Amino acid sequence: MQQLEQQRIFFKNQNTKDLGFRKKALKRLQEEIVAREDAICDALYADFKKPKFETLAAETQFVLAEIKNTLKKLHYWAAPERVHGSLMNWPSSDYIYKEPYGNVLIIAPWNYPFQLALAPLIAAVAAGNTAIVKPSEVTPHTANIIEAIIKASFDAAHVAVVQGGVDTSQALLAQKWDYIFFTGSTRVGKIVYESAAKHLTPVTLELGGKNPTIVDGTAAIAKAAKRIVWGKFLNAGQTCIATDYILVHRSVKEQLIAELKKSITAAYGEDASNSNDYARTVSAEHFGGLKEMLQGEEILFGGQTDATDNFVAPTLVNEPKWDSKLMEGEIFGPILPIISYEKEEDLTPYLERYGKPLATYVFSTRKSFQKKIIENHSFGGGAINDTVIQITNKRLPFGGVGNSGIGAYHGKRSFDLFSHHKSIVKKANWFEAPVRYPPYTLPMGIIKRIKHLF
Ligand code: NAD
Repeated sequence: MQQLEQQRIFFKNQNTKDLGFRKKALKRLQEEIVAREDAICDALYADFKKPKFETLAAETQFVLAEIKNTLKKLHYWAAPERVHGSLMNWPSSDYIYKEPYGNVLIIAPWNYPFQLALAPLIAAVAAGNTAIVKPSEVTPHTANIIEAIIKASFDAAHVAVVQGGVDTSQALLAQKWDYIFFTGSTRVGKIVYESAAKHLTPVTLELGGKNPTIVDGTAAIAKAAKRIVWGKFLNAGQTCIATDYILVHRSVKEQLIAELKKSITAAYGEDASNSNDYARTVSAEHFGGLKEMLQGEEILFGGQTDATDNFVAPTLVNEPKWDSKLMEGEIFGPILPIISYEKEEDLTPYLERYGKPLATYVFSTRKSFQKKIIENHSFGGGAINDTVIQITNKRLPFGGVGNSGIGAYHGKRSFDLFSHHKSIVKKANWFEAPVRYPPYTLPMGIIKRIKHLF
């Protein structure tokens, strides 16, 4: 692969090591994004009618904020970090050097096609790597604008875009990389991990999951409904950390359903297909899958579909069966199953059925219940009395665990993720502790009694 070969040489020649070089490249990227912000919004609208506000908030401004923060902090993040020495090594100065891995591959999905290709790229560049970005083929307009922006911002020997589908992705994965950053489904994540293992390449896998939202009998129901509806129907339900299904206490189920209906209508009107603030499902294939999930289900609200536009209305489904299509795996669309529970123990089979989800949300005013869910169950991250918002704080690591992924990023963690942390001890020559060398003369008892030896 010619681009990768070029990038190998570029990296080996130390071109990316200079912080000034990295900053200049990021500034060019910043300028290109700012200059094309309207065109990016148009591309996402052309791909799946993503509302402009959502593109600005969750794609372009999100990415620009990452660049701004990185430019401001890069100097500190990249500096060798001095740590206390150990008595064993005394006298020495000990450091952690942040070393770029080298040649990075970034594979992006279609649901936040701009953010999820660019946010990892910013960190890869900041950390001094070269990168090849493969955007999703499912959102071709966005892929084209990503390619145009990257071409205008970087020398191809530094950062390049390779467009294509599964075959292209697999051809890229067959190469030897120094780091692979993948965002997508758990199924493909396993393929990526397997390919990486052949070369012992480290990976970040940002995968999906079936995220529960629990609403107990003490929750502030109207507020809960509003916040669930916002997080679920944003991007037409195609958000990896959106609520997948609701587990609601029987005592408040009817009230919650009434409030969910009210919130959906308040957000998108009587007919969401007329709303400028409601996206479409991304493809005919995805649309077909969602339609199939609705077969035989009891629809409480919504349920309208339009194949000409890949439109699926915000839909509430009552008590889908355990073995239904809807409850088989991640829905990843604007369909919201509502399942009631009686006792807290009834929650466990759901919370354990799908492996560790990317997110879990709890609506409750009982601190003990909130604590129990946070501490007794493993999941990527979440929120109490809200949904999705954990992604908006750059100080919080964003990533999954188990089935939902490996590794986490955002803010400084993104920089750290793309850097090998190299430990260096700088030893002084003016002193030598003779007890270290054989023949060992120190009585064994003393070594056990010395505190802070390491
Ligand atoms: P996907 O796994 O189908 O595709 C992701 C990327 O992998 C695309 O670029 C695609 O071309 C490539 N690809 C697809 N099949 C491949 C194969 N067999 N071999 C090699 N490469 C292949 O995912 P998607 O449909 O684009 O995105 C939706 C999924 O991504 C959902 O499961 C969602 O939860 C997840 N997701 C996770 C996060 C996160 O941050 N954790 C963010 C967004 C989306």
